[in-house]
Amino acid sequence: MTHRLVIIGSGPAGWTAAIYAARALLKPVLFEGAEPGGQLTTTTEVENFPGFPEGVMGPELMEKCKQQAKRFGTEVISETVEAVDFTARPLKITAKGKTYEAESVIITTGATARRLGLESEKALYGKGVSACATCDGFFFKEKKVLVVGGGDSAMEEADFLTRFASEVTIIHRRDAFRASRIMQDRVLKNPKINVIWNAEVVEILGVDVGRVTGVRLKDTQTGETRELAADGVFSAIGHEPNTKLFEGVLELDEKKYIKTKPDSAQTNVEGVFAAGDVQDAKYRQAVTAAGSGCMAALEAERFLNDLNS
Ligand code: NAP
Repeated sequence: MTHRLVIIGSGPAGWTAAIYAARALLKPVLFEGAEPGGQLTTTTEVENFPGFPEGVMGPELMEKCKQQAKRFGTEVISETVEAVDFTARPLKITAKGKTYEAESVIITTGATARRLGLESEKALYGKGVSACATCDGFFFKEKKVLVVGGGDSAMEEADFLTRFASEVTIIHRRDAFRASRIMQDRVLKNPKINVIWNAEVVEILGVDVGRVTGVRLKDTQTGETRELAADGVFSAIGHEPNTKLFEGVLELDEKKYIKTKPDSAQTNVEGVFAAGDVQDAKYRQAVTAAGSGCMAALEAERFLNDLNS
């Protein structure tokens, strides 16, 4: 059996694509993947998704989207896609050793925030450790927070956090930022922001009390370590799109994000669309991902109509 549309990924982009496609009677099949719900399930409260004046927990929002997609007839498969073959039609998608055929595919596999890779970071994720100032900054009113990184994201997050925090300290592993000059200047001029150069976070403190109380820093030049008190740690050390599956299959940009045509979700393969963070290094918001999932579904619907006319 050849499905009309297969969606790979279950974040806001995937579920929105599924809702639109299901309501267009395309009977979409959605593969949930290894991290159902995607990055939103690693945050706590989402306060900037329209329609939830009291806020909503990330996992709950994703579960509601799933129920909405299922209500209109989306078939949900709780497996991870292992391989795709887009060289011939129908398109082929393999999960758990079984190959599925589809006339069209929407890829919404998202991105993953790079982590420092510390055990203590894992233990305190969502308890003072975050990779998203836009999502969690609000919870640090009048608190002392640290931002790790030296790129544009670190500058942007540090600047944004000064709206809430009493003090923001950037920890960077080298003696110069990678960020653009204008972003650096803005940060260096901000009286609420300090910078600690040549330092690496080797441990996040507070595991014993279940919330961040500080960090252990190592000087990258002398090797000396010291402790620094803080209420929150924001890592801004980049994101990686989840595109391993599509290397050599679809056109990716230099940072491995899927390339889509301007103002479109269309990839370089006809009938294959991409939406959400897997093709967006810039906005990375749940609501923009949802919007692009909608675009992808509308484009897939048009493609399928043309195919069968
Ligand atoms: P990025 O440019 O790759 O910077 C990552 C930063 O994190 C670098 O300073 C890097 O240090 C540091 N880093 C990486 N791994 C680390 C680790 N394990 N421990 C400690 N530090 C680590 O990533 P980004 O800042 O997310 O930016 C991504 C892209 O989006 C860039 O092209 C950026 O210009 C763009 N962007 C633009 C804007 C804007 O214009 N408004 C805002 C945000 C992002 P090193 O410098 O030592 O490598």
